[in-house]
Amino acid sequence: MRDRIVAGNWKMNLNYEEAIHLATNLNAWVADNQPIAQVIVAPSSIYLQTLLEAVDEQYIKVSSQDISAHEKGAYTGDISAEQLDSIGLDFAIVGHSERREYQGETDVIIAQKLKQAFKHQINPILCVGEKLEEREADKHFEVVKTQLMEALVAQNSENLSRLIIAYEPVWAIGTGKTATPEQAQEIHAFIRKVLKDEFGVDVANQTSILYGGSVNAQNANEIFAQPDIDGGLVGGASLKYDDFVQIIAACK
Ligand code: PEP
Repeated sequence: MRDRIVAGNWKMNLNYEEAIHLATNLNAWVADNQPIAQVIVAPSSIYLQTLLEAVDEQYIKVSSQDISAHEKGAYTGDISAEQLDSIGLDFAIVGHSERREYQGETDVIIAQKLKQAFKHQINPILCVGEKLEEREADKHFEVVKTQLMEALVAQNSENLSRLIIAYEPVWAIGTGKTATPEQAQEIHAFIRKVLKDEFGVDVANQTSILYGGSVNAQNANEIFAQPDIDGGLVGGASLKYDDFVQIIAACK
């Protein structure tokens, strides 16, 4: 059985006190309610260590929002996988569409980041997804397959047991527009088929594939009920305690 996961990508939001407050409240909620889903929060990097200490890892896992493509050295501002591993961090978002868009991350860079994650025992949450014009031109399958293959072919297949994928159509991120459950299921099933064809049935069956793109307390139930959707990567709604716990509870 693959893991059910609900991950909150806090992006560049919440100050120090707000981040601790939200994380500790979530920790208490998970302890009390024992949801099926593994809950992950991805704060800004300056709070990673504090949050690792503030929560109990049996209830909440902490993730970085990014990882360096390099091992170490003169890369000002980067944080390496080895550094993240050295503070006890187990997860990192890799290839988020905002980093592809604003930081010019290419599939080649993303493949290097995944390599670093695997080398240092970090479970990467690899984000893939098409832009609006690609969906309108009916190219979404092709785009997602290319993103997956470019990121994954260079990896040692033994490491793929650590992989988590997030399908996030760019046109649905932060826009309030959500893929319909049927649209999301269709492409999640396609991603699982690509994994099966390229890396075998075990990788396909074990890899958790999360949906991301304006998931909220109202639509989470229907989205998470789809057979190939194993949870969500949630941006805006993960900043609001009441909404986020409803989303976690919707992952059954
Ligand atoms: C995201 O940025 O990963 C995301 C899914 O954001 P939102 O839920 O706000 O669309």
